[in-house]
Amino acid sequence: MKMSQSVAHPYVVYSTPSGDVGERRSLRAVDADGVPLTPRDLLPLPEGASLSMLPQRLAVGLDAAGARRGVPAARGWALAALLPIGYTRTRLPGYEKIPETEPLPFFGYTAVAGWRGRLYAAAVRTDDPACWLPRIYDRQRLERLVRERLAAEPENRVLAHHAHCALDYSCPTASNLFFRRWEGAVAVSAGCNARCVGCISKQEEEGLVSPQDRLLFLPTLEEIVETGVAHLEQAPDAIYSFGQGCEGEPLLQARLIERAIRAMRARTLRGTININTNASNPRALQRLYEAGLDSLRASTISARHETYTAYYRPIGYTFADVKRSLLLAREAGVYSSINLLCFPGLIDCEEEIEALVSFLHETGVRLVQMRNLNIDPEVLWPRVPRPSSRPLGIPALIETLRREAPEVEIGNFSRPVGPRFPTGAADAAPPLTPVAPTAQ
Ligand code: SF4
Repeated sequence: MKMSQSVAHPYVVYSTPSGDVGERRSLRAVDADGVPLTPRDLLPLPEGASLSMLPQRLAVGLDAAGARRGVPAARGWALAALLPIGYTRTRLPGYEKIPETEPLPFFGYTAVAGWRGRLYAAAVRTDDPACWLPRIYDRQRLERLVRERLAAEPENRVLAHHAHCALDYSCPTASNLFFRRWEGAVAVSAGCNARCVGCISKQEEEGLVSPQDRLLFLPTLEEIVETGVAHLEQAPDAIYSFGQGCEGEPLLQARLIERAIRAMRARTLRGTININTNASNPRALQRLYEAGLDSLRASTISARHETYTAYYRPIGYTFADVKRSLLLAREAGVYSSINLLCFPGLIDCEEEIEALVSFLHETGVRLVQMRNLNIDPEVLWPRVPRPSSRPLGIPALIETLRREAPEVEIGNFSRPVGPRFPTGAADAAPPLTPVAPTAQ
C-alpha cells in the first residue's frame, strides 16, 4: 500500500476487492458517530493486529467542506482493525451499511485511518502484549507439541478439546497448555446460566452465529487434575484457568472444580488456580475459595444493574450476586479482577463510569481487565439500552479509574498471583462466614 505523505489529517482507508488496503486521502477519517479521528486518537497499528474487511459497508469520511462522503462500493468496503491483547479500542469504525445486510461476525472492530504513509488504529496500549503476540505461537512447533502430547495422553479429552482450540482458533491459553507456559486453559462446562447478547460460544437468535464451538462433554476429575498438575508444575508464571470462551459457565460445575482444586493442591503448591466466571453463584464460589482457589475474574459489561441485565440476560441470578461473590472473595483473600467488556459509547458514559468507580471501591477488585467487546454495534444497541448520559471516551474512562481508584490496576489479562496457601494450609484455614441468600 503506497500512502501519500503530505495530507494534513488522518484519512480514509478501505479494503479493495483484491484484499489490498486502498486510501482516499481527500476524505477525513471518522468514527461510527461521524466524529473525525485526530492524530491524538490514534496509534500506529500494533504488532499482532489484523485488518478486517466490513462487507456490504461503504467506507465513509468528510470532504474538505465537511460533508460526509462514501467510497463507491466498486472500489471496496470499509476496513477495521482487530487488536491484539494489550490494547484497548477507543473508537468504533465509521461506515455506511447497505440496507438488508447480514450482521458482522462477533469480533472487536476498531476504527482505522491512514496517516503519514502508515496505518493507524483508534486504541490505547493498556498492558504488555509480549506474551500474547501471534509470532510467539509458532505454528509448526505447536502442531508438533500437540501431536506428541496427545500421543502421550490419548485418553485425556481436556487436552484433545484444547488442541482443537489451539489449532483451529489460535487460542493463546489453549496453546499454552502445549507450550507448557503462562496461562493455560481448562474448559469444563457445556451449560450456562446467562444468555449474553455477545456470547462467542452460543448464539440462539436466528442470523447470529457464534465464532466458536462450545465444549460438549463433561471432563472427568482425573482429566482436569492431570492437565492442571502438569501445567502448574512445569509452566513459568503458571496460571490454570477455569472458564474459557469455548464453554458455558464453569460455576455450573462448581462441585467438580472444588474437588479438582483440592486434588491439585494436594499434589502441587505451585502456580495460580484461577476461574473466569460470571460470578453468578456466591455460595458455590465460597466453596471454591475454601478449597484454595487463588484468583477469580468476574465478567461484566457494567456496574449498573440495568445495563448488566440487558446484556447478560441472567437466568436465576442478578447483578447483586456478582457483587456478593466479589465481596466474599475479598473477605477470603482471593485476588479478584473484572473482565470489563469495553464498548465505546456504553462503558464510557458518565453514569457508567461513576457506577464503576463505586463498584471497585465497594468490592475491593484489584485489577480491571479491559476487554474489547466482540460484537457488531448494530446487534448490541437494539438489545442493550444506551445510557442517558453522554460518552466521555475510553481514554477518559481509564484516566478517571486511575485518578479515582488508584489502588486498582488496569490491564488486559490475568496475573500469576501465586498460591493463596503456599504451605498447603487450605484445609487448615478457618471456614469462611456461611453465605446467606443475596438480598435482591
Ligand atoms: S456467561 Fe459466557 S458462556 Fe455464558 S452466555 Fe455469557 S459469554 Fe456465553
